[in-house]
Amino acid sequence: MPTQQVTVTDRLVSFVFYCAPLDRYNGMYSDLHGLDTSKYGVTDSASYLTRLPFVVVDVDTKKVIYPTSGAYKEFPGRTYTSALHDGKRSVHSLDAIHIPDEVKRIALHIANDAFRYHRNFQLYPWTVPDAAHSKIHIFELRSDVQNKFIEKNNLPSIPSENTLVVKSAPTNEYYGFLTGDLWRKVSHEYTDADISRLCPSGTISRNALAGDMPHPQVAAHPSHALVPAMTNAVTPHSDGPHAYVGPVLGGSSPASVPAVVSAPALPQVTGSVETIAVDWLATLAPIYAAGAGSRSMAPLTVEIPTLGITLTFIGRALANAINTSDNTTIQQAIKRTSPRTFAAALKAAWRLHIDKLSLSSSWRPMLGSRLHKMGDGLDVTSFEDSLEHIDFTIHNHGAGDRNLPFPTSSGGQKLAKLYAELNRDSETLHGAIYTPWLNWVEPHDTHMHITAKGE
Ligand SMILES: [Zn+2]
Repeated sequence: MPTQQVTVTDRLVSFVFYCAPLDRYNGMYSDLHGLDTSKYGVTDSASYLTRLPFVVVDVDTKKVIYPTSGAYKEFPGRTYTSALHDGKRSVHSLDAIHIPDEVKRIALHIANDAFRYHRNFQLYPWTVPDAAHSKIHIFELRSDVQNKFIEKNNLPSIPSENTLVVKSAPTNEYYGFLTGDLWRKVSHEYTDADISRLCPSGTISRNALAGDMPHPQVAAHPSHALVPAMTNAVTPHSDGPHAYVGPVLGGSSPASVPAVVSAPALPQVTGSVETIAVDWLATLAPIYAAGAGSRSMAPLTVEIPTLGITLTFIGRALANAINTSDNTTIQQAIKRTSPRTFAAALKAAWRLHIDKLSLSSSWRPMLGSRLHKMGDGLDVTSFEDSLEHIDFTIHNHGAGDRNLPFPTSSGGQKLAKLYAELNRDSETLHGAIYTPWLNWVEPHDTHMHITAKGE
């Protein structure tokens, strides 16, 4: 059987990624929306991809052809360009990739889709031409500026989603668009199985009254170990001020959750220590069920009855996911956020008797570093402890507060405890909790950023 005529023996392919610019300085945005800032998506800290995981695969065999060793490669550091008529963009030039002779078509997997567990979405499947060196330009764009972008940059056409188009000149150059909608397809949506794997059921404990933490702070058990513990744990509610009073979740589908795991979790109070068995799949279920079919920017409140905590996604918390896409919904954005981020935040809040937490960002495709793009980041803007009358906004007074100790107010000291809890949590990347005071890095003046462990 004849095979393809290969006239070039060594084919090289280079990818260059141009990250989305800020909407505020983007003339293409104002051409479309004028002075209306409600459509802003790329705000505050423009997109960049340094250290984003990726692999290149043979489309047909799914075999990884790059890197040739190691699980994945990471995007290199950035340079900048302002040559695309829409403001300043970060640019990442990947090393040239040798295409083995037997490979006809290649594709990328990026972000959390680059991990072996996932690799669900082949990005830009493309037949490699018989050319010594092909260069591919990927432009990260809001979905709504595609027409403007080709017009201002003299490009022949809008590429169909997830395809590459040849440039008019120079030869052997191609381009594709990375919109918010394509980012959604690339990014892994956490399943019940992922949640159970990443956040196994366990018990957490706290001082029954607000104050010092009991020891040990957190004990994780396999679910079967809960049976005897829970039998003993079904004691009447404590009459302490922080006794569990919320309703009990019925649990999730029997197909994915063993019955024992979804049994009611009631607190056990021994002396001054209160312990509760947490089934994270059931506990996080209200979060992942929120915002179905909605693209609303309004605040969204989610009750976590098993822990007695109210989570609020503040107004515009998901604006980057929504406004850079045509179709992404609130629920789709939330479902791309690692369960470890929510589990860590809720665990720390519960242990400190915090009953309200406000969030300003979770998964987002086109803003800031790789962390939120991979679903590993969660931003907290305020918290409340109703019993102690603490209502604290995580916002410094300016540059002078950066990298200084937390405020001495009761709220500031509560934040200090929250920060300490998060930094020793099993779900988080220690050292990668950023605040407007301690461990400040750009741009964390108005929130605390939590980084969860990746896969
Ligand atoms: Zn963040």
